[in-house]
Amino acid sequence: MFINKERLRRRIDAINEASRDPQGGYTRLAFSEQDREARRMVEELMREAGLEVEHDAAGNIIGSYKCGDLAGYVAAGSHIDTVRNGGPFDGLLGSIAAIEALQCAREQRVPLKHPLRAIVFADEEGARFGSGLIGSKSIAGIPLPQPLDSYVDRDGVHLVDALKNFGIAPEKVLNAAAPKDTYSAFLELHIEQSAVLEQRQKQIGIVSGIKGVYWIRGSFTGEANHAGGTPMNMRHDALAAASKLVTEIYRIGCELGNEFVATVGVLKITPGGINTIPGHVEYTVDVRDLDMARRSEGIRQILKAAEEAAAFYHVSHEHSCIKDEASCNMDSSVMKILEEVCRDNKTNYMILPSGPFHDTLPMASLCKTGMIFVPSIGGISHSPRENTNWDDIYQGTEILYRALIRLAQ
Ligand SMILES: [Zn+2]
Repeated sequence: MFINKERLRRRIDAINEASRDPQGGYTRLAFSEQDREARRMVEELMREAGLEVEHDAAGNIIGSYKCGDLAGYVAAGSHIDTVRNGGPFDGLLGSIAAIEALQCAREQRVPLKHPLRAIVFADEEGARFGSGLIGSKSIAGIPLPQPLDSYVDRDGVHLVDALKNFGIAPEKVLNAAAPKDTYSAFLELHIEQSAVLEQRQKQIGIVSGIKGVYWIRGSFTGEANHAGGTPMNMRHDALAAASKLVTEIYRIGCELGNEFVATVGVLKITPGGINTIPGHVEYTVDVRDLDMARRSEGIRQILKAAEEAAAFYHVSHEHSCIKDEASCNMDSSVMKILEEVCRDNKTNYMILPSGPFHDTLPMASLCKTGMIFVPSIGGISHSPRENTNWDDIYQGTEILYRALIRLAQ
């Protein structure tokens, strides 16, 4: 192994230790004091690794190893912000592994044609302000879906003020947009956040693409009435219709196959009394797939099922789409390199899609991209119980290092 295991582990542990949450796990919400401290530590590590450190206009931390005669950075990175009470590796692994990979290339004086970059993206999770991917979208020149001044955290702090507090001018965030050809390739190492690798007993997942997210917000409207006085055949029960839809969505998800997933995450029942027929139910559906045609088919079946449920229970139905993001395929030449590197290193791997989004998604609009997954124990993430075996962490970092070198040579 080329990477320095002990150094990698020490750095990850140190940053986690500084943001240990008394309620469990680690909390580094974006632009919080814990985030500030972690960012300071990351910058120090980048300098220790011999990288030139800079901040861009969106608060991304960029460490460059300038080598080679060709333009176009071969970059790697991830985020260091977390959800509340997050685990040790979500984001932090890919950030520190990128620094390790660059330090390793520098120390071993590997001859390279392209310069290297480690990027620690600002606010990936969106756990505080609800948007997420602020840093990576800004590098890709993609504005956030809403105006910056509309984002507020649960304590009433505005995103624009949190940015200013970190020395970031909100009106200049998109100045971080990277000119064309700045990057020739981007790789991200990340925990899987699912249990597929563990079940299949693979140490590495090579990501084929990131599933496109589609969110539906809908409602059934019937008539609230007395639960005792209204005969069953005279009701307009909005919850009965919603329940039928929930089970239909489950069936559609199972029928369309493994990579298609659909989830009802919210049901709001009004008025919500023990002796009252529900007159109104609001629901949400999260639909994802890598295959956009299959996703459209799933959405079509879900909306048809909603109309049928409404007709069956004599209620009305309304719906709208509140998010529609296309899926994104990883670059096939990068996937091939990752496969070769796994084979050379005798690491067992499999190819799989990513359900969650990552900083790689916006980066894919700038250059060719690839992602490496390591197993999440029990498939758990966004929880203090998130964990990955250190052996898998080392293998993932080694594969990241070798693939970066291959891309830069
Ligand atoms: Zn993450």
